[in-house]
Amino acid sequence: MAAGSDSGPSITGKVSSVTRTVAPTDSTHRSPRGALALGKNPGRSRSHNRRVLLELLRRNGPQGRKALADLAGISTQAVANIIEELVADGLLLDMGRKRTGRGLPPIQYAINPDGAVTIGLEISVGELTATLLDLGGNLRHEERFSLDDMRPDAVLALIGDEVRRLIARQSARLMGVGVVMPGPFGIEGLSGVGPTTLKDWTDIDVAGRLSGDLGVPVVVDNDANAAAVGEMLFGKGQNVGHFCMLYFGAGIGLGAIVQDQPLRGAFGNAGEIGHIPVAPGGLPCQCGQSGCLEGYASIHALSGYLGSSDRVLRADEIRARIDAGDPAIDDWLASAAPHLATMIGMIENIFDPQTVILGGKLPGRLLDDLVARLKVPPSVANRPSRVLPRVQRGQAGQGSAALGAAALPFFNAITPQLDLAEPVPVPQE
Ligand SMILES: [Zn+2]
Repeated sequence: MAAGSDSGPSITGKVSSVTRTVAPTDSTHRSPRGALALGKNPGRSRSHNRRVLLELLRRNGPQGRKALADLAGISTQAVANIIEELVADGLLLDMGRKRTGRGLPPIQYAINPDGAVTIGLEISVGELTATLLDLGGNLRHEERFSLDDMRPDAVLALIGDEVRRLIARQSARLMGVGVVMPGPFGIEGLSGVGPTTLKDWTDIDVAGRLSGDLGVPVVVDNDANAAAVGEMLFGKGQNVGHFCMLYFGAGIGLGAIVQDQPLRGAFGNAGEIGHIPVAPGGLPCQCGQSGCLEGYASIHALSGYLGSSDRVLRADEIRARIDAGDPAIDDWLASAAPHLATMIGMIENIFDPQTVILGGKLPGRLLDDLVARLKVPPSVANRPSRVLPRVQRGQAGQGSAALGAAALPFFNAITPQLDLAEPVPVPQE
């Protein structure tokens, strides 16, 4: 089920083109209850209801009209009308009648995986990851590129070319594009500084420029939120309605899933925890404070331990140092774990999650070592009735944010302007 692999090929340059298929979300592991916002009956919410039905079918497998109406909380007639449209649009398949007992069995409808695809792109310091998901949630393609030129013009041009190249090989139409990058967005001072952020990107209208270039809807979100969505769809977040994801990009971010939806905040910056001081009188930070979490628990900090304080190391470089038995790895773990544990205790008290998941661009072995070292202080998470571990390593792998990015166009709460009813023209070369 892992959508990403820790032992994948080197990510230097355009060398790791792989196509992997991720099994569709197992309906038996996904409670339909609270799975997504319920449908709405008024006519103006038709596009919303279309997304709701598609998501219910993706998560629960083939269903009849009556069952869908019950799950979505809208009338059977409304469901029937929408299904007719979705079948006509090629997004749903009529699977025939399923024999269930007496009487005429209901016609079952299923997602047509070939009906549409979405593309996700994660822009991180020095690297671009691209993923392509079909409508059934299957990962059809994943590819990584190193980014030597991080200027917006260069990266956006590369993204445009990559999307056109990927979609040219698909018969399905492109429904939308999700782009994720480290936050924060649109703020001044404080945390928008330092080596873990993308310079020169502050005032760039990424969604506007890319949608203008590609002719499809483009959604932008921060990497930690997207990684949480990736983990919710493909990893340890399945069937977990409330969880927190600590995401190691170059820095560290928090993605919170609350009632099966990512918590974005008023300005998309919820979860920017990197510059919360956790060590009074600790390491000076470029943000002007001292003892910020990111100064300890981040790949940037680890890179400093490994002798690369001005360049954030890639996962394959870190993996090589682990393989070589570099003692600096252990020194970093000893330094980072207590501060991360402090933050996790706070997060538990603030969000009351079912579990906290660690993921991102650290090698999986190192995440396991980090989890093992954590001595999380007492919090509301100390419940005798716990089922899930307080802290665990994610399963969606290093591509979790890019996977989540590709899923963003599905999320109506994030993208109310998206309407799956409208066939999106496939961009021409
Ligand atoms: Zn700081």
